[in-house]
Amino acid sequence: MSAAGNSSSSERTMAPVEPTGPVAPGISPGVDTLVRLGEFHRFDAAGERFGYMVPSAAVFAFDACASALADALGDGPRTIGDLVASLEGRFRPDEVWDTLGELYRVRAIHEAKAPAPAPTILPLTVIPLQTLVVNVTNQCNLSCEYCYEYGEDKIVDTENGQQPKFMSEETAREAIDFALRESGTTAMVTFFGGETLMNFPVLKKTVAYARARAAEVGKAIDFSLTTNATLLKPDVIDFLADERIGVTISIDGPQEIQDKFRVFHNGKGSYDLVAPKIKALLARHRSRPIGARVTLTRQTLDVMTIYRHLHDEMGFWEVGFAPVTTAPQRGHAISDSGFDHLLSQFRLLAQDFLQAALANRHHGFSNVRETLQEIHQGHAKAYPCGAGIGLLGVATDGNVSLCHRFAGSEAHSFGSVTGGVDRGKQAAFLDAHHINHKTDCQSCWARPICAGGCYHEAHTRYGSTTGPNLHYCEWIRGWTHTCLEIYGELAVKNPGFLRQFDGADDEASQRH
Ligand code: SF4
Ligand code: SF4
Repeated sequence: MSAAGNSSSSERTMAPVEPTGPVAPGISPGVDTLVRLGEFHRFDAAGERFGYMVPSAAVFAFDACASALADALGDGPRTIGDLVASLEGRFRPDEVWDTLGELYRVRAIHEAKAPAPAPTILPLTVIPLQTLVVNVTNQCNLSCEYCYEYGEDKIVDTENGQQPKFMSEETAREAIDFALRESGTTAMVTFFGGETLMNFPVLKKTVAYARARAAEVGKAIDFSLTTNATLLKPDVIDFLADERIGVTISIDGPQEIQDKFRVFHNGKGSYDLVAPKIKALLARHRSRPIGARVTLTRQTLDVMTIYRHLHDEMGFWEVGFAPVTTAPQRGHAISDSGFDHLLSQFRLLAQDFLQAALANRHHGFSNVRETLQEIHQGHAKAYPCGAGIGLLGVATDGNVSLCHRFAGSEAHSFGSVTGGVDRGKQAAFLDAHHINHKTDCQSCWARPICAGGCYHEAHTRYGSTTGPNLHYCEWIRGWTHTCLEIYGELAVKNPGFLRQFDGADDEASQRH
């Protein structure tokens, strides 16, 4: 039995899940010790058997002896003496004992009488800010029916509420000062909206200010933005390219798909306008890879067609897909059968990714890459994403909140760019949202990766951020299983491919 290449269970959050009790209890005197299988998810890849060890998030390849032991324990607890005897003739006793020791260490087996090791919540400590998402406007020139900011599921009234519709230059500067104060050696700033480029003049001045301030305080600073591409003009494109600003384009696919939802206020589709602008951007902005971000709805689930159009025909470097966040009764909500269809489409595209990875070729399906990275780094997440920890959102008035999707919501505010973060409020939020408090997730093998899912999704579905997103568990588990299989195939057939994830940190995976 051997580790398949991923890191140990180094948790990455302020309050990681830590095992209690011995990691490798001595198994002697052990012949009478009753043992049972621990918590792991089995999968097969490249003709081998693997286990995803849930408490530690480690991936292990089972050799013949470990497989035989797991099979022998499949019907329930047995004594060690009984196990060793049952494998006599197939494996040497010392090999069986060694394998038992390893299975103990990775918590694939436990003493049957002992309770499963319970995780504990470590005391919270402040970590530096990694990404600040700055909503420079809450206005948009499109009118996408599914949009969480403008549709029926919105949290903040950006039309009639008190929030300024555009962030002022002064607030934007204060947001930069906040980012530089709260970050470690590098501040990552993402401009967001509404439609971000509707406030391009402020954005442009803010980048210049931020570069100067970062140099003064001796920190690095990095910028990215998300846009619907409608306002990409030659001077804007030049600016983005020259300033090396990372760009993500919100686009749903070829014309017949894009124009279903991504429409102007008069109902006209946006494809004809954005397609040439995106081509101009891709031709000019070569300093950083440019990604597309697709919202999938009940009516637009053809992942393969969308990917081929955006990656192969338009030339995006990467394409990431996210199911729409919405209340279940909306017409664009994805049904259970829709999630099944989505999973089969994701699996097809993931196979393409695998073939490319085996040949050391780039493939742009970013959902696989991000999940492989999480598996490789062995994260057992206490929280679903960086929101409220390493990632914060700023509203147009300078209010700091959980993430960009909650920007401007008083109920989800953590302070302001001038007043700083209310650490008590932040700690209370993190305590209430820890995976250990999500009882439904405690028996789920996918929890190291999912950790209950997006707070905004939960708020939209159930009216609260605290509960897990139980409506898409089958989808999450199915997709995680597929990514584990791909990870196993690569670990056996092209382990060098996985080395790119050593120590890599994916800022993009923190925002959606
Ligand atoms: S939300 Fe569902 S899939 Fe995610 S960890 Fe909880 S039980 Fe598992
Ligand atoms: S996953 Fe949800 S809660 Fe987390 S950053 Fe993304 S939108 Fe916000």
